[in-house]
Parts: sequence; structure tokens; C-alpha cells
Amino acid sequence: MKYISTRGQCDETTFTEAVATGLAPDGGLYLPKTLPDISGKLASWRGLSYPDLCFEFLKLFATDMLEDKLRAIVKDSYKKFSRKEVAPLSKLDDHLQVLELFHGPTLAFKDFALQLLGNLYEEQISRTGDAINVLGATSGDTGSAAIHGLLGKKGVRIFILYPQGRVSMLQERQMTTTAARNVYPIAIEGTFDDAQAMVKDAFGDAPLKAKYNLSAINSINLARILAQCVYYVWAYNQIDDAARERGVNFIVPTGNFGNVMAGWMASKMGLPVDGFRVATNQNDILCRLFNTGLYEISDVEPSVAPSMDIQVASNFERFLYYNVGQDHAKVREVMAEFKSKGKYQFDDFDRDTFSASRMDDGEINTTIEHVFAKYKYVADPHTACAFKDLDESKTNIVLGTAHPAKFPEVIEKALGRTPTAPSLEAIKHEPIVNYLLPAEGEALAEFLKEHAKGS
Ligand SMILES: *Cc1c(COP(=O)(O)O)cnc(C)c1O
Repeated sequence: MKYISTRGQCDETTFTEAVATGLAPDGGLYLPKTLPDISGKLASWRGLSYPDLCFEFLKLFATDMLEDKLRAIVKDSYKKFSRKEVAPLSKLDDHLQVLELFHGPTLAFKDFALQLLGNLYEEQISRTGDAINVLGATSGDTGSAAIHGLLGKKGVRIFILYPQGRVSMLQERQMTTTAARNVYPIAIEGTFDDAQAMVKDAFGDAPLKAKYNLSAINSINLARILAQCVYYVWAYNQIDDAARERGVNFIVPTGNFGNVMAGWMASKMGLPVDGFRVATNQNDILCRLFNTGLYEISDVEPSVAPSMDIQVASNFERFLYYNVGQDHAKVREVMAEFKSKGKYQFDDFDRDTFSASRMDDGEINTTIEHVFAKYKYVADPHTACAFKDLDESKTNIVLGTAHPAKFPEVIEKALGRTPTAPSLEAIKHEPIVNYLLPAEGEALAEFLKEHAKGS
């Protein structure tokens, strides 16, 4: 299997290269050159455990890795999940199930991809001998999932910048109480934008980037998308025949379009899905896109579902590539116009498969109440966005993207009770170990000089 860039201006590459590189050298995103057809395999995959299914699926893509190595990596990646099913389904009624993707180490769906990516990095380093330093800024979930994916991995150090006093208490503790010696959580005296600007500057400093072999954590790595395809196949295989025969819709709380993109790719490989719902919060660039064809940037308004507070969806370019008939020149044209004007109007679009909805904070709050009143189910504020305008003639599978205990204040306000999770209780009293830096590029460069692993 070969991998190409959406922009078509760099060479085809292998799975391991595409994963190691992240962003393609021409600025595009990697995709498989052709998609395998999995429709004939679904039935035979039905009895497999989650890690076994993941191995069978990834084997189709990681064709330049030894199978035994891949099998071991996959097995290790899902062993820190607290439920034996890894991704259990919770049935609310005949038409509605929640696929719970929040039983990993940081209680959000990003663990599915980042636990795997951490192991793939470690394998790459053991092969090449080149140490890497992972650098990123976070406003919460991605940083903690990346830290937990990389902690203790040989040859990797991870530096995560976050705005001091502006991430939740639990998110900060997930990042700062790991006691792992290769993890450097850095509180910045500034905002998330300051932290992000510092990271951007460091990557823009070519000598610095080369000297420390700096690598980004972001949602565009190919391995993240492929790891996320697996739980769509898993969910489809777990439900009963009657539920499958009704036709399956996946409802996906969406920010950067990574999660729903993975599901849609699985359907392009032959997973029989009737529809995908893109469920956004008040930062609704994607909801507007699917409803009007206009893709237009706007300011981020902080919401109670902060992991979906995005301005542009970094994975959108992959979807675009397929939607313009795999025409690289057209992808470049659309992305260039979007970059210069801040918007693009599409005239035709895959509206049969996709629908979209949005929820503001007030609706999220009342939805958490209604879902609890009707099903005795506690939905976190991200997952809550999915419970809107569902087609009751179908089997609706809502992707549960975070554990409600990660957002105790929001749940407390809606339900008058505070959800808990053992892994969060355990860290509440652990001491915070972090570093404090002013919001200045030089301070970060100095810090890296002192702590990054030289190559
Ligand atoms: C990241 C995240 C999302 C959004 O996922 P995308 O892949 O960016 O669309 C939704 N919910 C939670 C809890 C998240 O952490």
C-alpha cells in the first residue's frame, strides 16, 4: 500500500514514512493511494476482540511493517483501557446506542489514536536511532492524550504548552501528575494563542527544529485517522442483525473533522453506513458548510464543549480531496482560495451521506438534562451535541467522545450531581509537577536547549 499527499506534489511513500512525517512535504495530508474493500471481511471479523480487529484492519495499511511487530504494538495500545470491550456500546433504546470511546487513560476518544501513535513513534525511533522531541500547545484534551500516548516511550520527550490557569483542574492534573521523566508540561503565562504562537515560532526556526528533531502533535497524522476507522467497524459488528437491517447512522460530535472523517473513510471501504451526522457546538463552521456549501472561517467562541471549539477543521482537506474527484490541482486551488479569502463556496457536495446540526451552550445544558431524564444516561457536553433531530426509523449510533467526569461543573449544573471516574479521583490529590515559562519564544528555545534530547 502506498500513500499520496492530497496536494499531489510529493512522492508516494510508505505507511511508516507517512506516519513519521505527519504533514506531507508539499503541505498536504497523506491518504492511501487506493482504499481497500473490506465489505467481504466484515462477517469474518465479527467475533474478534477489539485489538484483534484493529490488527486485521491496520494490516491492510501498514504493509511495510512486520506483522508480529504490528500485532504487538496494537495489543499494547489498548491495554490501558478500563473496559474489556475497549469501546463498549450502551443501548439506550432500539434506535439509539452510544459507542463509548472514553474508557482510555485520559477518558476521551483521542486515546484510541494517540496510544497507538506513541507506540508507532517508539518503533520508528528504535529502527532509525534518531531521538525525537514532540512539541505542542493544548487547550486541554489533545495535550493530555498525547502525553499519555508518549509517556515512558524510549527516545521521545514531549513538551506540552498550556495557558496557566485556563485549562480545567482535571485536564491540568492529567498532564502534570504522570511522574514520567520524558514528559514536560509547561504552563505559559499567557493565553492559548500565546502558547500556540510560541510553538509555531519554534517550528518556524529551521535550525532549532532540525537540531532537536522537533515533531508536532496534531490531528492530521494518517495513523490517527486509520486507528479511528476501527471503532466504526467494531460498532457495526457489535449491534444485532435487526439493528443493522434498519440501517445505521453515526452521529459524531465534531471539531477538527478527524473523527467523522475516519467513519466516512470506513464507509468508502465498504462498511454499510446510511448516514453521518456532523454535530457541532456553537463553533459551527462545519454545520454551515454541510447545510449551505459555504466554508467560511469565523472567530472561536469558547463553549462548554471546549474540545470542539475550532475555527478551521484541519482534517477537512482529506474530505475535500475525495469530493473534488481526487483532483490534486483542484485541492490546491480550493485551499489557496480559502487561505487568501477565508472562505470558499462549494457548488456540489456529498449531501446524501452527511447531515449536520449545531448546539449552543444553553441547548447542551438542557440536552444533558433530557437525556438523563429519558434514559438515565449521563452524556458529557461534547456527546450531548449528538442528541438532536435523530431519524428514529434508523439505528442511531452516537459517538460518546468524553467521559462526563471530565466536565464535573457542566454536569453538576445540568443534573445537580457530580459524576466521577476512578482514574480522575486517583489524581485529584497528586502533586502537580510542571514548569512555568513567560510567553516568549526565547524562553522556549532556552528551555529546549536545556531539556530536549539531542540527536
Ligand atoms: C477532539 C474532541 C472532539 C472533536 O473531534 P474531531 O476529530 O476534532 O472532530 C469531540 N469531543 C471530544 C471530547 C474531543 O476531545
